[in-house]
Amino acid sequence: MDTKAFKRSLQQSENYFRKGFGHAEEVSFVMQSAYQSPLIQKIRENNYTLQQGEVTIRLAEAFGFCWGVERAVAIAYETRTHFPTERIWITNEIIHNPSVNQHIQEMKIEFIPIKAGQKDFSVVEKGDVVILPAFGATVQEMKLLNDKGCTIVDTTCPWVTKVWNTVEKHKKGNYTSIIHGKYKHEETLATSSFAGKYLIVLNMKEAEYVANYILNGGERNEFMEKFSQASSPGFDPDKDLERVGIANQTTMLKSETEQIGKLFERTMMKKYGPDKLNQHFLAFNTICDATQERQDAMLKLVEEKVDLIVVIGGYNSSNTTQLQQIAIARGIPSYHIDNAERIKPGNRIEHKVLYGDLTIKENWLPEGEITVGVTSGASTPDKVVEEVIEKIFEMKKAVAVV
Ligand code: SF4
Repeated sequence: MDTKAFKRSLQQSENYFRKGFGHAEEVSFVMQSAYQSPLIQKIRENNYTLQQGEVTIRLAEAFGFCWGVERAVAIAYETRTHFPTERIWITNEIIHNPSVNQHIQEMKIEFIPIKAGQKDFSVVEKGDVVILPAFGATVQEMKLLNDKGCTIVDTTCPWVTKVWNTVEKHKKGNYTSIIHGKYKHEETLATSSFAGKYLIVLNMKEAEYVANYILNGGERNEFMEKFSQASSPGFDPDKDLERVGIANQTTMLKSETEQIGKLFERTMMKKYGPDKLNQHFLAFNTICDATQERQDAMLKLVEEKVDLIVVIGGYNSSNTTQLQQIAIARGIPSYHIDNAERIKPGNRIEHKVLYGDLTIKENWLPEGEITVGVTSGASTPDKVVEEVIEKIFEMKKAVAVV
């Protein structure tokens, strides 16, 4: 499919919307009461610090809802106002946050059901309204919905669209897109659907494996097995790694994306010489500002004297995971939770171990005076952060009494 031409024609269709519907004021009131928090505002104004009893909270200087997410949620609310009686679907969680998704469902916006591991679009009928979430949708899904005669409300974040444009450029120049991301993540699925040839690398280790293959060759079968789910159909490592361009899932660790870009730049320079670099390597900056700001703020937070860090965000939120990775790299005890209910009586916390399962940690709040660093992923409303902070104060008080 000519994805660029399809996207252009979709954008001209009268059944396609990618901005609000003029109900911004009403929606902003609803969003404020649903998601914002006076306590968090107070902490922000107090140099990101709040002390109560034996606990000092240090909030990261950038955290929580990014503008792309806020925009997507606002457009979803506006969609309901604009289409009060139509059936409204959403192709995926609008963002990776349980409380936001619950609100969305309360507005009778339904998720496309999953049958045998696949989305079942047979439930969608002509005239239904379908929202595409902040991290986008694959071009095949867009085409299917368009062919069915649905109204499409596209809340894809412009930063994600920028990455799609980048892989289109790779495709046009006959470069293979090396995408730094998670091959199962919806954003990366969407990005790869716009790419020509592509290979998805999760981290530096996988990137090094590929770079080594480019320079020294290797076991073709092993390569194919390793990237069987993370490469374009018919991918041939012996032919398709001669020209590469870099792209990323916008929420990956910024420093790692940069390192991966530099690695491939060096690799191509080594293999083809500096004067031929441009014929073999392409890179554009596609790391989103919000991700960058949150990661920079976390890097600052881990420099402070904090006893532990609580990272709040949905368990399938990639940018939240990246924030925790920064705390782990600094050896600071950190707990990834998705809401305040994970903090349990008796000084226990139920948290998700990085790339692992939910587990209970006993006596997680140390005795005496403590400083707790707090941050949250781009899809976490301030209200959830407020609830967590209040719970920490409450629990610490209880521990002190015992
Ligand atoms: S994290 Fe960045 S790319 Fe993702 S929705 Fe927010 S602003 Fe957009």
